[in-house]
Amino acid sequence: MRIVSLAGGIGAARFLRGLKAAAPDAEITVIGNTGDDITLFGLRVCPDLDTVMYTLGGGINEEQGWGRAGEAFTVKEELAAYGMEPQWFGLGDRDFATHILRSQLLSAGYPLSQVTEALCDRWRPGVRLLPMSDDRTETHVVISDGDGRRAIHFQEWWVRLRASVPAEQIALVGADEATPAPGVLDAIRDADVVILPPSNPVVSIGTILQIPGIREAVERKTVVGVSPIIGGAPVRGMADACLTAIGVETSAQAVLELYGSRLIDGWLVAEEDKDVALDGVVVEARPLLMDSPEATREIAAAALRLAGALPEIDG
Ligand code: GDP
Ligand code: CA
Repeated sequence: MRIVSLAGGIGAARFLRGLKAAAPDAEITVIGNTGDDITLFGLRVCPDLDTVMYTLGGGINEEQGWGRAGEAFTVKEELAAYGMEPQWFGLGDRDFATHILRSQLLSAGYPLSQVTEALCDRWRPGVRLLPMSDDRTETHVVISDGDGRRAIHFQEWWVRLRASVPAEQIALVGADEATPAPGVLDAIRDADVVILPPSNPVVSIGTILQIPGIREAVERKTVVGVSPIIGGAPVRGMADACLTAIGVETSAQAVLELYGSRLIDGWLVAEEDKDVALDGVVVEARPLLMDSPEATREIAAAALRLAGALPEIDG
């Protein structure tokens, strides 16, 4: 079986671990969000790709969900001693090595897709990890505060401001000129099923779907999504702040409508959301908390079962 999964960070990475356990023989291609990528201290940082790579490769800080296990922060402290900004983004010493190597390979001219493959040679995540695009795109957020109305990088809004200032607009800068990374459209075309894990529907999945060609390719496939919203609230994180910014209610129903029935064929919701419904979509209610490896594997298995029960859509 060939599975394609779109992926943001923590939610997706945990789900993917369950998917690997549920389908050990499947060929899994993960298309990762790179809209969150940022250049810090001259280094290119790809938080979502790294979260997936470290989680599936066994190097993640489990409690935190991002960053390396057994991390130290000497470099960060030394940079701060020089007064270097920003100091609000947590980069540990081990993590720095990843960004140094990535940046070196990028400046040597290798595209991000090849650089990611080189990094995965070490981590062996057990999936093929592709960035959504080799072109540089960045999610920017328009806010108004004491410094006036301005656009800031997504990470500044998310990490420094903890999404406490309302987003007036969220835009993926560079999306129109970007093309899918090599292998992305082929993997979607050849997939038996496309899974949307519980990732942020605006700044993770929504971002990937904005790369020209990707949404159209996914729409042709059997697609099952796992709701990231349970009982009207995100399970963790601040997805509600992103949904509010684009005028969408924080509910499993509204996220399904946002994705739409052209994209989604099957939608897993939590038991408290069992009344969710949309024409052309098969909705199934079941426990959706990824609170143990077994529970997560069962959610992934349910997504695959639902996909298998859907009428085949000819790619
Ligand atoms: P990502 O970068 O988009 O993957 O962002 P996060 O990992 O921060 O959040 C992903 C989304 O998944 C958030 O909207 C969470 O509410 C949701 N999420 C996190 N944990 C769970 C879970 O155990 N079950 C479900 N259904 N959703 C979850
Ligand atoms: Ca993310």
